[in-house]
Amino acid sequence: MKSIILVVGAGPVGLTMAAELARYGVPVRVVDKAAERTDKSKALVVWSRTLELLDRMGCGEWFVNAGFKVTAANIIAGSRTLAHIDLHAVNTPHPYALMLPQSETERLMEKHLNDCGVQVERGVELERFDATADNVNATLRRADGHEEVIDAQYMIGCDGAHSAVRRGLGMKFEGDTLPSDWILADLQLSGLRTKPDELNLYWHADGALALFPISPGRYRVVADVGDAKSAALRPDSTLEEVQAILDKRGPGDIVASAPIWLASFRINERKVADYRAGRVFLAGDAAHIHSPAGGQGMNTGMQDACNLAWKMALVHHEAAAESLLDSYSIERSAVGRQVLTDAGRLTTLAIMRSGVAQTIRNHVASLVFGLSAVRGIMANKLTEIAIGYPESPLTLPSRHTHGGPSPGERAPISAAGVPVGAGPNPRFALFARADGESAAFIARHENLLEREPRLPFAEDGIWLVRPDGYVALVAGRGEWAKVEEYFHRIAGVGKG
Ligand SMILES: Cc1cc2nc3c(=O)[nH]c(=O)nc-3n(C[C@H](O)[C@H](O)[C@H](O)COP(=O)(O)OP(=O)(O)OC[C@H]3O[C@@H](n4cnc5c(N)ncnc54)[C@H](O)[C@@H]3O)c2cc1C
Repeated sequence: MKSIILVVGAGPVGLTMAAELARYGVPVRVVDKAAERTDKSKALVVWSRTLELLDRMGCGEWFVNAGFKVTAANIIAGSRTLAHIDLHAVNTPHPYALMLPQSETERLMEKHLNDCGVQVERGVELERFDATADNVNATLRRADGHEEVIDAQYMIGCDGAHSAVRRGLGMKFEGDTLPSDWILADLQLSGLRTKPDELNLYWHADGALALFPISPGRYRVVADVGDAKSAALRPDSTLEEVQAILDKRGPGDIVASAPIWLASFRINERKVADYRAGRVFLAGDAAHIHSPAGGQGMNTGMQDACNLAWKMALVHHEAAAESLLDSYSIERSAVGRQVLTDAGRLTTLAIMRSGVAQTIRNHVASLVFGLSAVRGIMANKLTEIAIGYPESPLTLPSRHTHGGPSPGERAPISAAGVPVGAGPNPRFALFARADGESAAFIARHENLLEREPRLPFAEDGIWLVRPDGYVALVAGRGEWAKVEEYFHRIAGVGKG
């Protein structure tokens, strides 16, 4: 009997990680030092790609039903709309940003985890650990001081920005804290004449102001309030301060009331170089933190979890070689780096101080965002459907795509039908003609492949799609040897 996998931290990432492992029949324990789940709304946006992955987990509908759909984002300077990014055209079953407070995301994910048969162990802190080539010896301490030592096959640190796991590994969290102060307020706004289901970013000479709808009448207000004056964080914002910023930078006549959360924050941009050290892995804020511009932090972390879980499940069930796990850090570290760069750029543009630079920025933005191709690229980036792994060692490059998606790309998803990766086992999907050859191939790899082939994206091709929905390879009709080789040489699966 194999030992369990220990997930440290039950924020959105740890919960997703534990739920995915449990769904795939891997014994898992998830501990959190906090006595209760967060009641803070922190991350507000669940993007399309995360929703697609939640559909795959079997709980996407809960989130969609609980959230509020935002269908466009605008950048406004004075009376001019510099950019209008419409999400309707994004090729996904979820062409919108789902606004859902993080406390709700965590509540729903924990319910899903419970349905998978696992309870979060709260008030349990990872004290220290010792990882060897064979196992991870972790010491857990309960609130009453009781200590327990457990022997885990792997440990995954989903323990947030101040990660004890990362510190225990001695990994550097390289990057900076930006020297500007920001305020945040979740409250009621009245008098706003913009569309209720659009997100508005105002570029004002004094700084940026963003208004995110949370539900009808309720908004999150985020604004930068200038250079940091000291090392200490400024006090939380006040309703009066928020009102003054709305009056000055907003479209006018907005009245703020009934604040639920008033806070201030600074932006950190940091990342570890490697998300893995032997049997210990990092995911979510423990591995990368960045500007909330673009709202990608939690989404990126939840997607880290989905990337690692199916690989770990195959390895745990001895259906794949251990080396499959190496691709996790390579793939997700590249995504983390890109998110950091993109969010950093958006922040830099938003907080430009010089009048000349602002004029140039506004002019260039209105020209660039005037191009529908640019708006389309931006929408695909924001919704995270553009994420892919073309450079991954798990992707077999090919010159011919036979008119379908390329290796490394997310496989297009139809709203109908069962998503790839759903079900109790991590299975690759074969998009190929249903004939004797595909049936024979599936029969030879029944522990790795879905039972039936899916309709190919074009007549003369074969697409092998990973359990997390990314194209592993594209082959021509009849090129079964290529798929066979992929399984054995590239993914190291099917060796158990
Ligand atoms: C104001 C704000 C707005 C944001 N907006 C967005 C947004 O719109 N979209 C988005 O995607 N992201 C956003 N983010 C980022 C998002 O909140 C984080 O990326 C997300 O919470 C990270 O989740 P996590 O599970 O990795 O870490 P966390 O949520 O930090 O969870 C870590 C958990 O680990 C536990 N823990 C820590 N140490 C230990 C230990 N030693 N033992 C046991 N348990 C431990 C903690 O108690 C905690 O529950 C925002 C963040 C802030 C602050």
